[in-house]
Order: sequence, then C-alpha cells, then structure tokens
Amino acid sequence: MQRLADVIASYFVIVVIAIAALTLLGWGVWGPEPSWVFGLINAVAVMIIACPCALGLATPMSVMVATGKAAGSGVLFRDAAAIENLRKIDILIVDKTGTLTEGRPAFHSVEAVPGFTQDEVLRLAASLDQGSEHPLAHAIVEQARAAGLKLVTPETFESASGIGVSGQVEGRRLMLGNTALMQEAGVSTESLQVHAEKLRGDGTSIMYLAVDGALAGLLAVADPIKPTTKLAVERLQADGVKVIMATGDGLTTARSVARQLGIEEVHGEVKPQDKERLMASLQQAGHRVAMAGDGINDAPALARADVGIAMGTGTDVAMNSAQVTLVKGDLLGILRARSLSVATVRNMHQNLTFAFLYNAMGIPLAAGLFFPLTGHLLSPLIAALAMSVSSASVVFNALRLRQASID
Ligand SMILES: [Mg+2]
Repeated sequence: MQRLADVIASYFVIVVIAIAALTLLGWGVWGPEPSWVFGLINAVAVMIIACPCALGLATPMSVMVATGKAAGSGVLFRDAAAIENLRKIDILIVDKTGTLTEGRPAFHSVEAVPGFTQDEVLRLAASLDQGSEHPLAHAIVEQARAAGLKLVTPETFESASGIGVSGQVEGRRLMLGNTALMQEAGVSTESLQVHAEKLRGDGTSIMYLAVDGALAGLLAVADPIKPTTKLAVERLQADGVKVIMATGDGLTTARSVARQLGIEEVHGEVKPQDKERLMASLQQAGHRVAMAGDGINDAPALARADVGIAMGTGTDVAMNSAQVTLVKGDLLGILRARSLSVATVRNMHQNLTFAFLYNAMGIPLAAGLFFPLTGHLLSPLIAALAMSVSSASVVFNALRLRQASID
C-alpha cells in the first residue's frame, strides 16, 4: 500500500503544479480585476492545500502505530509488508520441536522390572548420565536430583554416540540407551515392550537401563507441548488457516504431537531443503503460506515464506530469516499479529481515503472553481489551516489503532 501511495504521489505532484498553473492563467485571463493578483493568490492556495502531507502520512503512521502495538504484545515486525500480508495467509507450516513444543526434553516417567524399584532405576540411570552432555540425560539427572536421590560418580563412563551410554556404577555394569543398543548387547526388552509402545504413542522417547547384562527398567522423556499451542492451533484453524506440521523428527513422535493438537497433515523426517520445497509447491498452487519455526533448519523456508515467523526462544539464524519474531515463542502471537494486520490495513484504507477525498474537495475549492456560484475564495491562510487539520486527522486516526482489540 505504501508503494501504491508512492506511485500516486509521484503523479500527484505534477498534476497539482499543472492545476496551480492553470488556476493562475485562468484567473489572469478571464478573472475580475486585479485578475493576476487573484490568479497568484489562488494558485498559491492550491499548492498549499494540496501539500500531500496527509497522503504521505497515511500508511507510515498506521505502520508505526501497529508496530509499536505489536511489540507491546510480544510480536516484533521487521517488515511492514508482513503486517499487510499476514491477514491473507491461508496455510501455516509449523516446525515441531521448539515451535509447537518447548524444545527442551523433560522427564516423563520411569518403569522397573520386578527386582528393581522405580527410584533405583532412576538413581542408577542418573548416576551414569551425570557425565553425559545429551539433553535427554540432563532431564533425567535433573529429575533424580529433584526427587532427592543420592547420585554416585560412575567409575567408568563411555558414550556410544547416538544410541546410548555405558559405564560402571557401584561395581555394576550399566547400559542406558535405545532399543538398538540393547539388541547389540543381547539384552531382551521383551518384558517392557507393551509399556514402551504405549509411552511412544504418547510422544515420548524411551531409554532402557540394563544392569549387568539384564534389563532393569526404562525411562521415558518427553518434549512437552507449550501450554498455549493447542489453543493457537485451534483458533487458527477456526479462522480458516490450514496448519501443516513439517519436522525433522520421526513420524511416530510427530504424529502423536499432531494428534494431540488436531493437526491433520504431518510431514516427518523432513530435511531443511524439503521444508522449502513443500513451501514452494504450496505457493505455486496459489496459496499464501506462512512458516513458523525456530531452528537453523527452518531458515530457508522462513526466508521463502510469504510471512516467516520465528520463535524468539530459537536461533538467531531463524530470526534473521523471518519478518516476524514471537518474543516468547508463544504461538498465540500469530493470532494477535493477524488481528492487528486486519485492523492496520483497514486503518490505512481509512487514511488514504480521507487524504484523497480531502484533496479532491480542497483543490477545486482553492482554485476558485466555486467562485461563480458562492462568491467566496479560499484564503491561503485557511488553506494552510485546512492542510494542518487534514494531517492531524490522519495522525489521530492512526493512533486509534492503539485501542484496537487484538486478543
Ligand atoms: Mg525446531
């Protein structure tokens, strides 16, 4: 809309100067005496009243007020076009980890086989995990400490990257890791199979603990969904925005999160360039697509999206690629931004309409077109006052945006 206003303003200048010149000539040639004095005064009045302040202020004022209002509610706009485009999106692609979910694994539950207690399984696993850098390990150690369990330092520690860790604790040989690690070591996970399947269906990751070559229990760690995510997804869908999940994670976990949120279309094990490709194909099909993400892997899709939305809790790369940042990573911010987009565009329309109407009425008046009918001319002083009033009214109308309800 700013571009449109700029194009119009570029012609506006020439047109106004032409009208002023015609006014001078018209009055000078055909006007009553002293005709050239009338001509000069009216030409000046035309220039003053047409000073396109209201036109120039119409969109930037709305954008400035909207940007400030959005920032106050945790939504940062880097780009005015995003404010205008957000109301038009019909598809939102969302990343899972860190966008729909907290992105930080938290302890979920522990199961023990007969002969072990849950506390004992947790204590041994946490003792072994103290040496690990892995976020899943961190969640387990944190839980054991919170439960007041006394951790011991492992005598030996070995990390088999990706599948688990092993070591010696209190003279016992421990192994902690996924099914692949257990299979490799010949430890049967049969007795906890049903438990594990159920926990996986809830969207958790499972780690088995083996003590001296026999299964002792399992620990489930989950990446909890952010408290506001469900409401945000529901309200977006009710608004007619289709929500699609695209995640690098496995399909089982992805589907389980999608099921809890009522998201129907899920793309799992997606590489960064595939997210961008998905975005491009939807855009080619004529959709207006927004993307919400937090990671480096989301950056290409964020940059390509009609509106890219980054989580303020995520990576800098994502924020730099996106036009919108949700400061606290709260997806309800997208809804606030959309309401604001609708209110802002309406406000810009009002401002532009007013600026045009004002000029359409003011210029003929200043040129003395109505003089034969009314016998009055517009003094340049009144023209100057009218011009100020028109600018002020655009500013006040833009300020009304601050009162707009966007929640
Ligand atoms: Mg992510």
